[in-house]
Amino acid sequence: MKKILAVLLSVIIAFSLSLSIFAQAESDECHCGNIPVIFVTGFAYTELVANAGTEEEYGAFGVETEAITDMIKRLILPLFGLILTGNYDKFAHTLSAEVNDLFYDASCDVNGNPNNPTVDIEIYEPPSPYHFRNTRTVFRYDWRKDVFDIAAELNDYIEETKRLTGHSKVALRAESMGGAVTMAYLYAYGYDSVETVVMQSSAFEGIEMMTSLFVGDLTLDPKSVMNYVGNFLEGNTADMVFYRALYNTFAALAFNPIVKFLDTALISKIKDVVYEDCIKSLFGYIPGIWAFVSEDSYEEAKEFMLDEEVNAELIKKIDKYHYEVMNCKEEIIEDAMANGVNFAIISNYGKAAVPLGSQSTNMSDFLIDTKHTSMGATCADYGQTLGEGYVQKINDGHNHVSPDNVIDASTCAFPEITWFVKDMMHTWYSDGYHEFVYTLIYTPGQETIHTFPQYPQFMLNNQETEALEPLTKENSDTQSTDVDFVALFELLAASTEK
Ligand SMILES: [Zn+2]
Ligand SMILES: [Zn+2]
Repeated sequence: MKKILAVLLSVIIAFSLSLSIFAQAESDECHCGNIPVIFVTGFAYTELVANAGTEEEYGAFGVETEAITDMIKRLILPLFGLILTGNYDKFAHTLSAEVNDLFYDASCDVNGNPNNPTVDIEIYEPPSPYHFRNTRTVFRYDWRKDVFDIAAELNDYIEETKRLTGHSKVALRAESMGGAVTMAYLYAYGYDSVETVVMQSSAFEGIEMMTSLFVGDLTLDPKSVMNYVGNFLEGNTADMVFYRALYNTFAALAFNPIVKFLDTALISKIKDVVYEDCIKSLFGYIPGIWAFVSEDSYEEAKEFMLDEEVNAELIKKIDKYHYEVMNCKEEIIEDAMANGVNFAIISNYGKAAVPLGSQSTNMSDFLIDTKHTSMGATCADYGQTLGEGYVQKINDGHNHVSPDNVIDASTCAFPEITWFVKDMMHTWYSDGYHEFVYTLIYTPGQETIHTFPQYPQFMLNNQETEALEPLTKENSDTQSTDVDFVALFELLAASTEK
């Protein structure tokens, strides 16, 4: 009897549940005026875990501090062995075995499929019916997958969001790798469901640092390493200016010998073995990473990292993105805009690039080169300017040269819809940055760099106020080493009084 009751009860519950779902599906169009915003995240935004969803869950992408320090401890003896014997090959094999262990769970086979099938993203945030102003739902994915596979998941996410919210269109905030995913989505699924796309430090043109890794260009330059670490000295407060002055004076003394040793005495001698033993199979077989290889070096990278026969299936996958999306990105954006999609491209600069490879002097946002996130700006190298008397390359009747004479936006594919934020780390957004993006999203129609006086083409991310402000000649010197000793002592006095 109890059993029959239980069955009856569950049938009633199931029936009423399906009714409520049915009611939701038929919900009326929403006219709240707040378009649902979906945040298309970037590479490694969501952690990968092995044994996902069980009690034996653990981090699968070996970048946890503990795993790395343990590995370094195990490498101390082999390093002494290397110094004593000079046997570089032996050390290279030992190092590769350690790195293979560290990354095995996240690695893929020759066809680009996961080696460990229990690995998945740690958190998945489903589409939501809620779409309050200035909020977004977060689209997370397994970033090892091929960009087109992720784009298919994004399509499902968008369709479900439309159904749940009662809106026929959504807005996309796409950051970093999410920019590549969004381009593949637009190409494969069209423009009907999207009202606005904001590209935030997008990787749609690749990243020089990853390209260097994939063509075997592992050169290290002491000056670039020094600049990269110096990226963290931000702002113009008296103490920061003092630290910067100290750093610029003394850092080279430490970096020069260490980096030169790594570059000439170590990396160049173990490189070949390490590539064959681990770099090619660990990173080259992950389809998603191929989205970061730039257009110009793609063929060279494929030849260097992969085998035409062994990796045939993987090559077929990554070719599709490179030939049909990355190589045609201008056409895709033009077509999207012609079909009513509002587009904005935001690019950051003022940071030194990752110090790997011959392009490490590029102007960057700390991870991606500014010339790539902006689709073609002419940029001075980090710490340099375009030179006295520089004349904008393409004269379209507007000024497109930044007040600090570092960026010429006239060579961008879309100069009128490309904004630049100085002193913003890749995706470490400030409050002012979010405000700007939501202004773009909630203002109807296609905005340009001429629409808002407070948001011109070139802006500064103010380190003290977290606000964006128009960049001027006056506020653009953010690398001052002119120490104000009176202000510095006042700061010191104030801190000792406390
Ligand atoms: Zn609504
Ligand atoms: Zn113009």
